[in-house]
Amino acid sequence: MAKSEKTNKHTSTNMASYIEPAPIGDKENPFESMMSRFNKAAEILGLDQETYEVLKNPDKQVIVSLPITMDNGKKKVFTGYRVIHSKILGPGKGGIRYDMDVTLDEVKALAAWMTWKCAVVDIPYGGAKGGIVCNPRAMSIGELERLTRAYTSALVDIFGPDQDIPAPDMGTGPREMAWLMDEYSKAQGKTVNAVVTGKPLVLGGSLGRVEATGRGVMATALKAMEKLKLNPSRATCAIQGFGNVGSNAGVLLEDRGLRVCAISDQTGGYWNDRGLDLQDAIDYRNKNGGLLEGYPNADKITNEELLTAKVDVLVPAAKEDVITQHNADKIQARLIVEGANGPTNAKADEIIHGKGITVIPDILANAGGVTVSYFEWVQNRIGYRWGLDRVNRRTDRVLTEAFDKVYETAVKYNVSMRLAAYIVAIGKVAETYKFRGGY
Ligand code: GLU
Repeated sequence: MAKSEKTNKHTSTNMASYIEPAPIGDKENPFESMMSRFNKAAEILGLDQETYEVLKNPDKQVIVSLPITMDNGKKKVFTGYRVIHSKILGPGKGGIRYDMDVTLDEVKALAAWMTWKCAVVDIPYGGAKGGIVCNPRAMSIGELERLTRAYTSALVDIFGPDQDIPAPDMGTGPREMAWLMDEYSKAQGKTVNAVVTGKPLVLGGSLGRVEATGRGVMATALKAMEKLKLNPSRATCAIQGFGNVGSNAGVLLEDRGLRVCAISDQTGGYWNDRGLDLQDAIDYRNKNGGLLEGYPNADKITNEELLTAKVDVLVPAAKEDVITQHNADKIQARLIVEGANGPTNAKADEIIHGKGITVIPDILANAGGVTVSYFEWVQNRIGYRWGLDRVNRRTDRVLTEAFDKVYETAVKYNVSMRLAAYIVAIGKVAETYKFRGGY
Protein backbone atom coordinates (compact mmCIF):
# COMPACT_ATOMS: atom_id res chain seq x y z
CA MET A 1 0.00 0.00 0.00
CA ALA A 2 1.16 3.52 -0.60
CA LYS A 3 2.14 4.75 2.77
CA SER A 4 3.21 8.12 1.47
CA GLU A 5 2.01 10.89 3.73
CA LYS A 6 -0.67 8.77 5.29
CA THR A 7 -4.21 9.93 5.72
CA ASN A 8 -5.42 6.71 7.30
CA LYS A 9 -6.56 6.72 10.87
CA HIS A 10 -3.78 5.01 12.72
CA THR A 11 -5.08 3.86 16.02
CA SER A 12 -3.96 0.91 18.03
CA THR A 13 -7.48 -0.47 18.07
CA ASN A 14 -8.49 -0.57 14.42
CA MET A 15 -5.06 -1.55 13.16
CA ALA A 16 -4.76 -4.69 11.18
CA SER A 17 -1.39 -6.35 11.47
CA TYR A 18 1.25 -4.82 9.24
CA ILE A 19 1.75 -6.69 6.00
CA GLU A 20 5.09 -6.22 4.36
CA PRO A 21 4.97 -5.48 0.63
CA ALA A 22 5.95 -8.48 -1.45
CA PRO A 23 9.51 -8.02 -2.70
CA ILE A 24 9.62 -7.51 -6.44
CA GLY A 25 12.97 -8.42 -7.94
CA ASP A 26 16.36 -7.79 -6.33
CA LYS A 27 16.58 -4.70 -4.20
CA GLU A 28 18.79 -2.03 -5.70
CA ASN A 29 20.52 0.32 -3.30
CA PRO A 30 18.56 3.58 -3.75
CA PHE A 31 21.65 5.72 -3.27
CA GLU A 32 23.40 3.89 -6.09
CA SER A 33 20.30 4.26 -8.24
CA MET A 34 20.33 8.01 -7.63
CA MET A 35 24.09 8.23 -8.26
CA SER A 36 23.91 6.39 -11.55
CA ARG A 37 21.51 9.04 -12.95
CA PHE A 38 23.55 11.81 -11.33
CA ASN A 39 26.72 10.52 -13.01
CA LYS A 40 25.09 10.47 -16.45
CA ALA A 41 23.76 14.00 -16.07
CA ALA A 42 27.10 15.24 -14.69
CA GLU A 43 28.85 13.81 -17.74
CA ILE A 44 26.47 15.47 -20.19
CA LEU A 45 26.85 18.77 -18.33
CA GLY A 46 30.64 18.40 -18.24
CA LEU A 47 30.58 19.01 -14.49
CA ASP A 48 34.03 19.71 -13.06
CA GLN A 49 35.46 17.25 -10.53
CA GLU A 50 35.33 19.71 -7.62
CA THR A 51 31.63 20.48 -8.03
CA TYR A 52 30.93 16.80 -8.66
CA GLU A 53 32.45 15.87 -5.30
CA VAL A 54 30.56 18.64 -3.49
CA LEU A 55 27.20 17.60 -4.94
CA LYS A 56 27.79 13.90 -4.49
CA ASN A 57 28.52 13.93 -0.76
CA PRO A 58 25.75 14.82 1.69
CA ASP A 59 26.55 17.84 3.89
CA LYS A 60 25.51 16.19 7.12
CA GLN A 61 24.35 12.75 8.27
CA VAL A 62 22.93 12.41 11.76
CA ILE A 63 22.00 9.12 13.45
CA VAL A 64 20.15 9.22 16.77
CA SER A 65 19.14 6.54 19.26
CA LEU A 66 15.73 7.15 20.74
CA PRO A 67 14.77 5.21 23.87
CA ILE A 68 10.97 5.27 24.13
CA THR A 69 8.73 3.99 26.90
CA MET A 70 6.26 1.68 25.21
CA ASP A 71 2.71 1.20 26.46
CA ASN A 72 3.75 -1.99 28.26
CA GLY A 73 6.11 0.07 30.41
CA LYS A 74 9.27 -1.30 28.78
CA LYS A 75 11.86 0.86 27.00
CA LYS A 76 12.55 0.25 23.34
CA VAL A 77 15.37 1.95 21.45
CA PHE A 78 14.58 3.25 17.96
CA THR A 79 17.08 4.51 15.39
CA GLY A 80 16.41 7.82 13.66
CA TYR A 81 18.21 9.53 10.79
CA ARG A 82 18.36 13.01 9.33
CA VAL A 83 20.50 13.64 6.28
CA ILE A 84 21.03 17.09 4.85
CA HIS A 85 22.27 16.55 1.34
CA SER A 86 22.77 20.15 0.28
CA LYS A 87 22.08 23.69 1.43
CA ILE A 88 23.38 25.39 -1.67
CA LEU A 89 19.95 26.62 -2.80
CA GLY A 90 18.62 27.30 0.70
CA PRO A 91 17.70 25.55 3.96
CA GLY A 92 17.40 21.76 3.94
CA LYS A 93 13.90 20.56 3.04
CA GLY A 94 12.36 17.12 3.07
CA GLY A 95 10.03 14.73 4.77
CA ILE A 96 10.36 12.26 7.61
CA ARG A 97 9.61 8.61 6.91
CA TYR A 98 8.41 6.04 9.46
CA ASP A 99 9.00 2.60 8.03
CA MET A 100 10.73 -0.66 8.91
CA ASP A 101 12.84 -0.50 5.73
CA VAL A 102 14.45 2.87 6.53
CA THR A 103 18.25 2.73 6.17
CA LEU A 104 20.94 5.40 6.04
CA ASP A 105 21.47 4.75 2.33
CA GLU A 106 17.77 5.15 1.64
CA VAL A 107 17.64 8.44 3.57
CA LYS A 108 20.77 9.66 1.76
CA ALA A 109 19.18 8.94 -1.61
CA LEU A 110 15.91 10.55 -0.61
CA ALA A 111 17.76 13.64 0.68
CA ALA A 112 19.62 14.01 -2.63
CA TRP A 113 16.37 13.57 -4.54
CA MET A 114 14.95 16.47 -2.50
CA THR A 115 17.88 18.67 -3.61
CA TRP A 116 17.20 17.84 -7.25
CA LYS A 117 13.42 18.14 -6.81
CA CYS A 118 13.59 21.62 -5.26
CA ALA A 119 15.99 22.69 -8.02
CA VAL A 120 13.73 21.33 -10.80
CA VAL A 121 10.74 23.33 -9.53
CA ASP A 122 12.97 26.29 -8.75
CA ILE A 123 12.14 26.80 -5.09
CA PRO A 124 14.78 28.19 -2.73
CA TYR A 125 15.54 25.07 -0.72
CA GLY A 126 18.27 22.52 -0.43
CA GLY A 127 17.54 18.85 0.12
CA ALA A 128 17.17 16.80 3.28
CA LYS A 129 15.32 13.75 4.52
CA GLY A 130 14.69 11.97 7.79
CA GLY A 131 13.49 8.60 8.87
CA ILE A 132 12.88 6.37 11.86
CA VAL A 133 13.07 2.60 11.68
CA CYS A 134 9.68 1.70 13.09
CA ASN A 135 6.38 0.17 12.18
CA PRO A 136 3.86 2.97 12.78
CA ARG A 137 0.94 0.63 12.13
CA ALA A 138 1.89 -1.49 15.10
CA MET A 139 2.30 1.46 17.47
CA SER A 140 -0.27 3.30 19.58
CA ILE A 141 -0.84 7.03 19.21
CA GLY A 142 0.91 7.60 22.54
CA GLU A 143 3.99 5.65 21.43
CA LEU A 144 4.09 7.53 18.13
CA GLU A 145 3.82 10.86 19.91
CA ARG A 146 6.66 10.04 22.31
CA LEU A 147 8.80 8.81 19.41
CA THR A 148 8.14 11.95 17.34
CA ARG A 149 8.88 14.25 20.27
CA ALA A 150 12.08 12.36 21.14
CA TYR A 151 13.25 12.56 17.52
CA THR A 152 12.52 16.31 17.41
CA SER A 153 14.29 16.92 20.67
CA ALA A 154 17.34 14.95 19.49
CA LEU A 155 17.49 17.06 16.32
CA VAL A 156 16.47 20.41 17.76
CA ASP A 157 19.75 22.04 16.72
CA ILE A 158 19.50 20.68 13.18
CA PHE A 159 15.93 21.79 12.47
CA GLY A 160 14.93 25.43 12.03
CA PRO A 161 12.95 27.58 9.58
CA ASP A 162 16.21 28.83 8.06
CA GLN A 163 18.18 25.62 8.60
CA ASP A 164 16.22 22.48 7.87
CA ILE A 165 12.46 22.17 7.46
CA PRO A 166 10.88 18.71 7.76
CA ALA A 167 7.54 17.59 6.31
CA PRO A 168 5.48 14.40 6.03
CA ASP A 169 6.58 11.36 4.06
CA MET A 170 5.63 7.66 4.19
CA GLY A 171 4.08 6.77 7.54
CA THR A 172 3.78 10.35 8.79
CA GLY A 173 1.20 13.09 8.31
CA PRO A 174 -0.14 16.34 9.78
CA ARG A 175 -0.49 14.81 13.25
CA GLU A 176 3.24 14.03 13.52
CA MET A 177 4.11 17.48 12.11
CA ALA A 178 2.00 19.10 14.85
CA TRP A 179 3.92 17.20 17.56
CA LEU A 180 7.20 18.16 15.93
CA MET A 181 6.23 21.83 15.76
CA ASP A 182 5.11 21.81 19.38
CA GLU A 183 8.26 20.11 20.67
CA TYR A 184 10.53 22.39 18.64
CA SER A 185 8.58 25.47 19.76
CA LYS A 186 8.90 24.51 23.42
CA ALA A 187 12.67 24.32 23.06
CA GLN A 188 12.71 27.82 21.52
CA GLY A 189 10.31 29.28 24.10
CA LYS A 190 7.99 30.57 21.36
CA THR A 191 5.74 29.24 18.63
CA VAL A 192 7.74 28.60 15.47
CA ASN A 193 5.33 27.22 12.91
CA ALA A 194 7.64 27.72 9.91
CA VAL A 195 9.97 24.97 11.23
CA VAL A 196 7.85 22.27 9.61
CA THR A 197 5.36 21.99 6.75
CA GLY A 198 2.42 19.69 6.18
CA LYS A 199 0.91 20.82 9.48
CA PRO A 200 -2.80 20.71 10.31
CA LEU A 201 -4.58 23.84 9.05
CA VAL A 202 -5.20 25.21 12.56
CA LEU A 203 -1.46 25.25 13.24
CA GLY A 204 -0.57 27.17 10.10
CA GLY A 205 -0.84 24.38 7.55
CA SER A 206 -1.64 25.44 4.00
CA LEU A 207 -4.86 24.83 2.17
CA GLY A 208 -4.17 22.33 -0.58
CA ARG A 209 -1.11 20.73 1.07
CA VAL A 210 -2.68 17.32 1.73
CA GLU A 211 -3.62 16.74 -1.90
CA ALA A 212 -0.66 18.70 -3.35
CA THR A 213 1.52 15.73 -4.34
CA GLY A 214 -1.39 13.96 -6.03
CA ARG A 215 -2.35 17.20 -7.75
CA GLY A 216 1.15 17.55 -9.15
CA VAL A 217 1.02 13.96 -10.40
CA MET A 218 -2.27 14.75 -12.15
CA ALA A 219 -0.97 18.03 -13.62
CA THR A 220 2.27 16.54 -14.98
CA ALA A 221 0.43 13.45 -16.26
CA LEU A 222 -1.96 15.67 -18.24
CA LYS A 223 0.91 17.71 -19.68
CA ALA A 224 2.64 14.51 -20.79
CA MET A 225 -0.58 13.08 -22.24
CA GLU A 226 -0.96 16.22 -24.31
CA LYS A 227 2.55 15.68 -25.76
CA LEU A 228 1.77 12.01 -26.41
CA LYS A 229 -1.61 12.88 -27.92
CA LEU A 230 -3.35 10.64 -25.42
CA ASN A 231 -6.93 11.74 -24.85
CA PRO A 232 -7.63 11.69 -21.06
CA SER A 233 -11.26 10.75 -21.53
CA ARG A 234 -10.22 7.65 -23.46
CA ALA A 235 -7.21 6.72 -21.35
CA THR A 236 -6.95 4.04 -18.68
CA CYS A 237 -4.75 4.15 -15.63
CA ALA A 238 -3.29 1.88 -12.92
CA ILE A 239 -2.12 3.21 -9.59
CA GLN A 240 0.27 1.28 -7.40
CA GLY A 241 -0.10 2.46 -3.81
CA PHE A 242 -3.22 3.87 -2.24
CA GLY A 243 -1.95 6.24 0.43
CA ASN A 244 -2.08 10.00 0.28
CA VAL A 245 -0.33 10.35 -3.09
CA GLY A 246 -1.93 7.46 -4.97
CA SER A 247 -5.48 8.07 -3.81
CA ASN A 248 -5.42 11.83 -4.38
CA ALA A 249 -3.78 11.47 -7.78
CA GLY A 250 -6.37 8.83 -8.68
CA VAL A 251 -9.35 10.97 -7.74
CA LEU A 252 -7.97 13.95 -9.63
CA LEU A 253 -7.17 11.89 -12.73
CA GLU A 254 -10.64 10.36 -12.54
CA ASP A 255 -12.05 13.93 -12.42
CA ARG A 256 -10.15 14.71 -15.64
CA GLY A 257 -11.80 11.77 -17.38
CA LEU A 258 -9.31 8.93 -16.99
CA ARG A 259 -10.62 5.47 -16.17
CA VAL A 260 -8.67 4.16 -13.17
CA CYS A 261 -8.88 0.40 -13.69
CA ALA A 262 -6.43 -0.73 -11.02
CA ILE A 263 -5.27 0.26 -7.57
CA SER A 264 -3.19 -1.59 -5.02
CA ASP A 265 -1.96 -1.54 -1.48
CA GLN A 266 0.29 -3.89 0.47
CA THR A 267 -2.27 -6.66 0.27
CA GLY A 268 -2.25 -6.70 -3.52
CA GLY A 269 -4.08 -5.17 -6.45
CA TYR A 270 -7.70 -4.65 -7.43
CA TRP A 271 -8.92 -4.45 -11.00
CA ASN A 272 -12.13 -3.29 -12.60
CA ASP A 273 -12.44 -3.04 -16.38
CA ARG A 274 -15.10 -0.38 -16.20
CA GLY A 275 -13.03 1.75 -13.84
CA LEU A 276 -13.02 1.71 -10.05
CA ASP A 277 -15.08 4.09 -7.96
CA LEU A 278 -12.17 5.69 -6.14
CA GLN A 279 -14.18 7.54 -3.52
CA ASP A 280 -15.74 4.22 -2.57
CA ALA A 281 -12.27 2.64 -2.31
CA ILE A 282 -11.04 5.56 -0.17
CA ASP A 283 -14.04 5.22 2.17
CA TYR A 284 -13.36 1.49 2.46
CA ARG A 285 -9.67 2.13 3.18
CA ASN A 286 -10.41 4.78 5.79
CA LYS A 287 -12.91 2.54 7.54
CA ASN A 288 -10.75 -0.59 7.50
CA GLY A 289 -7.22 0.79 7.69
CA GLY A 290 -6.40 -0.47 4.17
CA LEU A 291 -7.87 -2.37 1.24
CA LEU A 292 -7.04 -5.51 3.22
CA GLU A 293 -7.69 -8.30 0.75
CA GLY A 294 -11.37 -7.71 1.15
CA TYR A 295 -12.14 -4.70 -1.01
CA PRO A 296 -15.32 -5.61 -2.89
CA ASN A 297 -16.35 -4.12 -6.26
CA ALA A 298 -13.14 -5.25 -7.98
CA ASP A 299 -11.23 -8.38 -8.98
CA LYS A 300 -8.09 -9.30 -7.13
CA ILE A 301 -4.81 -9.08 -9.06
CA THR A 302 -1.22 -9.24 -7.88
CA ASN A 303 0.99 -6.20 -7.52
CA GLU A 304 3.08 -7.52 -10.40
CA GLU A 305 0.00 -7.84 -12.60
CA LEU A 306 -0.93 -4.26 -11.79
CA LEU A 307 2.49 -2.93 -12.78
CA THR A 308 2.41 -4.79 -16.09
CA ALA A 309 -1.33 -4.31 -16.81
CA LYS A 310 -2.56 -3.13 -20.19
CA VAL A 311 -3.30 0.50 -19.36
CA ASP A 312 -2.20 3.78 -20.88
CA VAL A 313 -0.87 5.41 -17.73
CA LEU A 314 0.92 3.76 -14.80
CA VAL A 315 1.35 5.70 -11.56
CA PRO A 316 3.72 4.02 -9.09
CA ALA A 317 2.91 5.84 -5.86
CA ALA A 318 4.22 3.57 -3.12
CA LYS A 319 7.97 3.30 -2.66
CA GLU A 320 11.35 2.73 -4.27
CA ASP A 321 12.48 -0.04 -6.54
CA VAL A 322 9.21 -1.53 -7.76
CA ILE A 323 9.93 -1.17 -11.49
CA THR A 324 13.11 -3.13 -11.97
CA GLN A 325 15.17 -4.89 -14.64
CA HIS A 326 12.98 -7.94 -13.90
CA ASN A 327 9.60 -6.50 -14.83
CA ALA A 328 10.41 -3.42 -16.96
CA ASP A 329 10.21 -5.40 -20.16
CA LYS A 330 6.64 -6.47 -19.38
CA ILE A 331 5.28 -2.98 -18.75
CA GLN A 332 2.56 -2.11 -21.25
CA ALA A 333 1.74 1.46 -20.22
CA ARG A 334 2.74 4.25 -22.59
CA LEU A 335 3.32 6.71 -19.80
CA ILE A 336 4.71 6.26 -16.28
CA VAL A 337 4.19 9.10 -13.81
CA GLU A 338 6.25 8.61 -10.67
CA GLY A 339 4.22 9.61 -7.61
CA ALA A 340 6.68 7.80 -5.32
CA ASN A 341 10.35 8.66 -4.88
CA GLY A 342 12.62 6.28 -6.77
CA PRO A 343 10.01 3.69 -7.88
CA THR A 344 12.05 2.83 -11.00
CA ASN A 345 15.54 1.56 -10.39
CA ALA A 346 18.41 2.69 -12.59
CA LYS A 347 18.74 -0.73 -14.22
CA ALA A 348 15.18 -0.47 -15.51
CA ASP A 349 15.69 3.01 -17.02
CA GLU A 350 17.19 1.85 -20.29
CA ILE A 351 14.71 -0.97 -20.82
CA ILE A 352 11.84 1.47 -20.33
CA HIS A 353 13.42 4.10 -22.55
CA GLY A 354 14.16 1.48 -25.21
CA LYS A 355 10.50 0.45 -25.25
CA GLY A 356 9.55 4.05 -26.02
CA ILE A 357 7.68 4.51 -22.73
CA THR A 358 7.68 8.09 -21.46
CA VAL A 359 8.54 8.48 -17.78
CA ILE A 360 7.74 11.64 -15.86
CA PRO A 361 10.39 11.25 -13.18
CA ASP A 362 9.76 11.50 -9.45
CA ILE A 363 11.72 14.72 -9.01
CA LEU A 364 9.23 16.42 -11.34
CA ALA A 365 6.04 14.36 -11.02
CA ASN A 366 5.81 14.37 -7.23
CA ALA A 367 7.18 17.88 -6.68
CA GLY A 368 3.71 19.33 -6.04
CA GLY A 369 4.07 18.34 -2.37
CA VAL A 370 7.22 20.27 -1.67
CA THR A 371 5.96 23.17 -3.78
CA VAL A 372 2.95 23.64 -1.52
CA SER A 373 5.26 23.05 1.47
CA TYR A 374 7.19 26.06 0.24
CA PHE A 375 3.95 28.07 -0.01
CA GLU A 376 3.06 26.97 3.53
CA TRP A 377 6.43 28.19 4.80
CA VAL A 378 5.99 31.51 2.92
CA GLN A 379 2.51 31.98 4.46
CA ASN A 380 3.87 31.21 7.95
CA ARG A 381 6.62 33.75 7.51
CA ILE A 382 4.35 36.52 6.31
CA GLY A 383 1.71 35.54 8.85
CA TYR A 384 -1.10 35.33 6.33
CA ARG A 385 -3.23 32.55 4.87
CA TRP A 386 -3.77 32.22 1.13
CA GLY A 387 -7.01 30.93 -0.34
CA LEU A 388 -7.06 27.53 -2.02
CA ASP A 389 -7.37 29.10 -5.47
CA ARG A 390 -4.17 31.04 -5.03
CA VAL A 391 -2.29 27.98 -3.75
CA ASN A 392 -3.49 25.82 -6.63
CA ARG A 393 -2.92 28.47 -9.29
CA ARG A 394 0.65 29.09 -8.16
CA THR A 395 1.38 25.38 -7.85
CA ASP A 396 0.08 24.75 -11.36
CA ARG A 397 2.26 27.55 -12.67
CA VAL A 398 5.38 26.20 -10.93
CA LEU A 399 4.79 22.68 -12.24
CA THR A 400 3.94 23.79 -15.76
CA GLU A 401 7.11 25.87 -15.99
CA ALA A 402 9.19 23.01 -14.58
CA PHE A 403 7.62 20.53 -16.99
CA ASP A 404 8.29 22.78 -19.99
CA LYS A 405 11.89 23.34 -18.95
CA VAL A 406 12.54 19.62 -18.50
CA TYR A 407 10.79 18.84 -21.80
CA GLU A 408 12.87 21.41 -23.69
CA THR A 409 16.03 20.01 -22.11
CA ALA A 410 15.05 16.46 -23.11
CA VAL A 411 14.62 17.65 -26.71
CA LYS A 412 17.84 19.69 -26.66
CA TYR A 413 20.03 16.83 -25.43
CA ASN A 414 17.95 14.05 -26.96
CA VAL A 415 17.62 12.30 -23.60
CA SER A 416 14.79 10.92 -21.45
CA MET A 417 12.69 13.21 -19.27
CA ARG A 418 14.45 11.68 -16.25
CA LEU A 419 17.92 12.55 -17.43
CA ALA A 420 16.67 15.97 -18.53
CA ALA A 421 15.30 16.63 -15.04
CA TYR A 422 18.67 15.73 -13.51
CA ILE A 423 20.42 17.98 -16.04
CA VAL A 424 18.15 20.93 -15.13
CA ALA A 425 18.58 20.30 -11.39
CA ILE A 426 22.31 19.65 -11.29
CA GLY A 427 22.94 22.54 -13.68
CA LYS A 428 21.10 24.91 -11.39
CA VAL A 429 22.73 23.74 -8.15
CA ALA A 430 26.18 23.73 -9.78
CA GLU A 431 25.71 27.26 -11.10
CA THR A 432 24.59 28.48 -7.68
CA TYR A 433 27.57 26.77 -6.05
CA LYS A 434 29.91 28.62 -8.42
CA PHE A 435 28.55 31.94 -7.13
CA ARG A 436 28.59 30.93 -3.47
CA GLY A 437 32.00 29.24 -3.59
CA GLY A 438 33.62 27.41 -0.69
CA TYR A 439 36.68 27.40 1.52
N1 GLU B 1 7.92 13.97 1.45
C1 GLU B 1 7.55 14.76 0.33
C2 GLU B 1 8.49 14.52 -0.82
O1 GLU B 1 9.16 13.52 -0.89
C3 GLU B 1 7.37 16.23 0.69
C4 GLU B 1 8.60 16.92 1.17
C5 GLU B 1 8.33 18.35 1.68
O2 GLU B 1 7.23 18.83 1.53
O3 GLU B 1 9.27 18.91 2.22
O4 GLU B 1 8.56 15.30 -1.73
